[in-house]
Amino acid sequence: MRGLMMDRPLLTTEILKHAVRNFRHTEIVTRTVEGPIHRYTVADSYKRICQLANALTAMGVKRGDRVGVIGWNTYRQFEMYYAVGGIGAVLHTVNPRLGPDNAAFVINHAEDDYLFFDTTFAPLVAAIRPQMKTVKAYFALTDRAHAPDIGVDVHVYENFIAEGAESFEWPEFDENTAVAMCYTSGTTGGPKGVLYSHRAIVIQTFACGLPIAIGCKEGDALLPIVPMFHVNAWNTPYTCMMVGVKQVFPGPKLDGESLFELLDSEKVDYSAGVPTVWLNLLQYVERTGKEFRYLKKGLCGGAALSEALIKGYERYGVELQQGWGMTEMSPLGTVNSLPKSILDKPQNERLPLQLKAGRAMPFVDMRIVDDAGEVLPHDGVTDGRLQVRGPWIIGSYYKAEKPTLTIDGWFDTGDVATIDPDGFMQITDRAKDVIKTGGEWVSSIDIENAALMHPGVANAAVIGVSHPKWQERPLLIVVKRDDADPSAEEIKEFLKPRLDKIAWPDAVEFVDELPLGATGKVLKTELRKKFKGYALPA
Ligand code: ADP
Repeated sequence: MRGLMMDRPLLTTEILKHAVRNFRHTEIVTRTVEGPIHRYTVADSYKRICQLANALTAMGVKRGDRVGVIGWNTYRQFEMYYAVGGIGAVLHTVNPRLGPDNAAFVINHAEDDYLFFDTTFAPLVAAIRPQMKTVKAYFALTDRAHAPDIGVDVHVYENFIAEGAESFEWPEFDENTAVAMCYTSGTTGGPKGVLYSHRAIVIQTFACGLPIAIGCKEGDALLPIVPMFHVNAWNTPYTCMMVGVKQVFPGPKLDGESLFELLDSEKVDYSAGVPTVWLNLLQYVERTGKEFRYLKKGLCGGAALSEALIKGYERYGVELQQGWGMTEMSPLGTVNSLPKSILDKPQNERLPLQLKAGRAMPFVDMRIVDDAGEVLPHDGVTDGRLQVRGPWIIGSYYKAEKPTLTIDGWFDTGDVATIDPDGFMQITDRAKDVIKTGGEWVSSIDIENAALMHPGVANAAVIGVSHPKWQERPLLIVVKRDDADPSAEEIKEFLKPRLDKIAWPDAVEFVDELPLGATGKVLKTELRKKFKGYALPA
């Protein structure tokens, strides 16, 4: 028997309308690309979102058209999130750090009809423009005074929207319509297109608003360091509007000092970013002796959260909480939110749990399987390939040439993990990064986390290098802290009591910096190239 309830579509426009009805005074603050702080309210943003929707419609943007954007986290890109999706078009957020070739590839592959960009990226747009096959017009996200020259006519965002009326009749359409698209950042392979639906985003937004997820509420302020150009800034532009949270957009300045200043002046309670940005910010406060006056919590994901970072932030009264997800998961899969009863425990008792990626969000199913596809137990010890399914998880890559899912309908994440009986998942490694030694698997993440506990180590990465007897052995690559000079032997000795013998690195190499990919994660593919043919000590 079918239920007899209304069948109303789950559209992102409903999140926008809800915010305007209930949180119209809530602020949205941006450190602009032009420099000054821009400040307005949800009600003000709504007028401009309507203006943009009107202008896009007048220009002829239709349902399903792709509108590309290369931009920082600012109020203008935020407006695009709601206006483009709201008229039934698709916002294709392009990651500028992909580099010109990949950026041109994804724009052509997505067949973007229009391209909006921040002036910072004018040189990138000028460089790729001759390769553009489908883009009909270019728009600089700025005003007339700051319009850049890219060799063709560039429309100016402020002038473009100025012509539109401040109200808009939002259309209704099927909730499975695409709202946005994003390409994977190619940490382990070429970029692949992921097409998010309104339904997926709306359901994820409900989940993100839960206390066990991002856990922000009306009156709080959130600063997303995670970029809007990659996986919807972890859904924060939607979540904040759903629960009435003030958004603080950092624009182009993501260095420790600029972030700290904005966190402090805008009284930000909560932030979100990858470990490398958290590390930079921590090093900034340690160096300058500053204190976080307002920041209470941070979501750290995209790569493993280390013990050193958790402890570092705890010294400043900030709880770093781990999350795990993927471009293919819109992106949230797990969040490690712990009840007070556990957080009140002594640090050494709760740390092992905090180092896990957390428990699955509602509607996200997780399982681990072996190489033959056999399902493995959730005993917290056995590790296997992590597979997922759920309403905001990819069903197929855009223009996929082969099936994206397993025969029985799961998405294989490419991660290796354990899941314990309480539901806590721990990423042991990426399947491609795990070190296969003498028939056993060693987690590169475990070695990195142990190395980061050394006071002289600023950053660390581990790769497997080939070994005549053991197939592969771990090589630890270290960036020293500015004020320290540890030797390779000293670091090896430091690791011995902290790791199983099989995981002791065979060698330690020092570098000035680690290569970072388009989302700020260490690019192990580059390290493997750099250390190709590395001769381990006998
Ligand atoms: P890519 O880096 O290929 O663009 P994503 O940005 O989508 O991909 O990142 C997804 C990957 O990041 C996951 O598959 C996983 O390997 C890694 N990752 C994300 N969160 C965590 C975490 N908490 N711990 C370890 N790895 C993580």
